[in-house]
This record gives sequence, C-alpha cells and structure tokens, in this order.
Amino acid sequence: MNTAYISLGSNMGDKEQALRHAVELLNDHAAINVIAVSSIYDTDPVGYEEQDVFFNIVVKITTTLKPQPLLDVCQQIEQQLKRVRIVRWGPRTIDLDILLFNDETIDTATLIVPHPRMHERAFVLVPLAELDDATLPTTKRTVRDHLREIGDGGVRVYRPF
Ligand code: ATP
Ligand code: MG
Ligand code: MG
Repeated sequence: MNTAYISLGSNMGDKEQALRHAVELLNDHAAINVIAVSSIYDTDPVGYEEQDVFFNIVVKITTTLKPQPLLDVCQQIEQQLKRVRIVRWGPRTIDLDILLFNDETIDTATLIVPHPRMHERAFVLVPLAELDDATLPTTKRTVRDHLREIGDGGVRVYRPF
C-alpha cells in the first residue's frame, strides 16, 4: 500500500463544489482511499495574477496504484470536471498535482515527484502542513522548514472541508 499527498486547486465557477466533486471521484476509485482532507484555503493567485482567488486543499490517500497510473486518474478527473484553461498558470476549473508518493523521488517525462515547485508555494505547504509535517526526499527539509522560509502570505483558511 502506498501513501500519497495530492494538491487540488480551483479558481473558476463553483470552486468549493469542484473540490468536493474531485475528492469524491478520487475516493470512488476502487484502488484509492482518501484518508484525510485539509481545510479549504482561499489563496491569492501566484504567477499569473489577473485572475480570481483560488480555493486549495491537500488530500492524503492510500492507494495500490503506482505513480503513473495515479497521475492518469488525476488527469481523468481533471477531464471529467471539464478543466478549461487558456493560459499557463491561468484560471482552471480543477488542477490535481501529486505532491509526494511515499518517500520516492520520480523524474520521468510526464511525472516529477516531489512536485518540483511545491516547496516554494504557500498554497501547497499550508494545507499539507495541516495533515503531515513530511520531509521532502529532495530537499531533506520538512514542510514547516520550507514554510518558515517562504511565509504563509496570501493563504487564508476559508472553512473546514
Ligand atoms: P504546476 O505543475 O506548476 O502546478 P500546472 O499544474 O498548471 O502547473 P498542468 O498543466 O496541470 O500544470 O500539468 C502539466 C504536466 O505536468 C502534466 O501533463 C503532467 O504530465 C506533468 N507533471 C509532472 N509532474 C507532475 C506532478 N507531480 N503532478 C501532476 N502533474 C505533473
Ligand atoms: Mg498545479
Ligand atoms: Mg497540474
């Protein structure tokens, strides 16, 4: 059995509904169990700033899937929720990114784990820290170490999931 953390974000349409629907679809998968969900955070957009605030959560799952099949499931859910996006890092109905998979480091053409930008994103680190102060196998530092470095600006609790 594998343990993984997935970051979910939405900033178009009914954002809370999109997050809830995506978590439900993950948990409905026969080989995935959602075992913890962070609070919902509303977060200022990073990168491309002329867009609505995001809602972000992190979920902890256990799964018998290997990393690439898990990514395939995440992308199927993005498709199912009719992810629409015009600009990179721009508005989207839903984004599912694999943050951590056991303590593995993966670097293929389609999948990099730990997610290569997670340690510089407060909108990922704050909800993840709520679930687990994990050590990143790449940086050898904990989630809270990284948060102390970058701060938690622009990330506010919206409500418990
Ligand atoms: P960012 O990765 O900076 O958060 P994004 O989530 O908007 O940007 P996407 O368009 O969702 O980027 O994904 C682009 C590609 O990233 C995907 O097709 C996927 O193959 C690849 N990818 C690499 N590592 C991961 C990962 N850990 N989780 C999800 N996708 C990943
Ligand atoms: Mg992303
Ligand atoms: Mg993504």
